[in-house]
Amino acid sequence: MDTGILHSKPLAELHAHLTTSIPPHVFWHIAQSEGYKLPKRDYKEFENYIVLSPERKLTLREYLDEIYHPILDKLSSGARALEKGVYEGLGGAYRSNNITLLELRTNPLKHNREGEVDLDHAIMAMLRGMERALLEYPKLKAGLIFCLDRQFSYEKNKIIVEKAVKYHRRGVIAIDFANYNTRLFHFRDYTDLISYARQHGLKVTAHSGETEDTNDMWDCLEHAKPDRIGHGIKAAYDKELMKELVKRDITLEVCPLGNLMTKAVENDDEMKFIIRTLLENGVKFTINTDWPETVANAHLSDQIQYLREKNILTEEEIDRTIRWAFDASFINLPNPHDNLYL
Ligand SMILES: [Zn+2]
Repeated sequence: MDTGILHSKPLAELHAHLTTSIPPHVFWHIAQSEGYKLPKRDYKEFENYIVLSPERKLTLREYLDEIYHPILDKLSSGARALEKGVYEGLGGAYRSNNITLLELRTNPLKHNREGEVDLDHAIMAMLRGMERALLEYPKLKAGLIFCLDRQFSYEKNKIIVEKAVKYHRRGVIAIDFANYNTRLFHFRDYTDLISYARQHGLKVTAHSGETEDTNDMWDCLEHAKPDRIGHGIKAAYDKELMKELVKRDITLEVCPLGNLMTKAVENDDEMKFIIRTLLENGVKFTINTDWPETVANAHLSDQIQYLREKNILTEEEIDRTIRWAFDASFINLPNPHDNLYL
């Protein structure tokens, strides 16, 4: 897609996962330097295997269970890989898409090789990667969001919140709830932990309303009281829920092309219906990538170009979503002119 014209427009990315913001060639480089065995021996085959495209769609569960967690999380584990991954992800987004504000999220416990790597070392490596990128690109502002896992026990998730609090002043800005439910997960079990996070200055977002019905979103609103919701596209099918989102001024983090590649949204017509319905009902939303490097041609500028080309949003509406993204950001640096958490 020709996105040249957009490169002058600064963009904000609020929903991108670290694991899927690392370009395939960087994963390849990490694997070769560490001597990891990969499912494919040839680079091109490896790239085609881990990158989704209209020719290679997988459901969210298939991708998470077969590629994201077992291969990509593993490759981006350990201090060296984490520092490089964060550094490359942030710098690449600024250089290629003029992203000047980027909130990168991940679950630190997915990058510590089941406890072999000390968690503080893993987190400090991420922060080093972020600081290197921020020093190199002074126009870029960035922060990390720590994802809790709906499949983890409460005790494990509590460790993640404690680390987020511990490193808040170094640039961990929020907590998120990610992954799909397999165990009995309830937001109501987390109200105390969420309050604890908030008391320490962290914001709250949660993946919800992506593939499942809106019950989970209602549950999330009632108990987690999030500042934003990741995806939330199913709200377009629930008028009362949209009213509630407007009332509470909650911004949705919409990720169009990823939703199409994981079949969460069936086709362009459904995407158009969702986005137009949210807009017409006054629900604020931002355009994001979710998985910028593991969905083909799905950088942030490509996502915007897609919405423009399919006549889903007008130029003025696109600008509005970009403004909403800067407004809804959790990044709040002590000195607004600085980009380092000093
Ligand atoms: Zn996500």
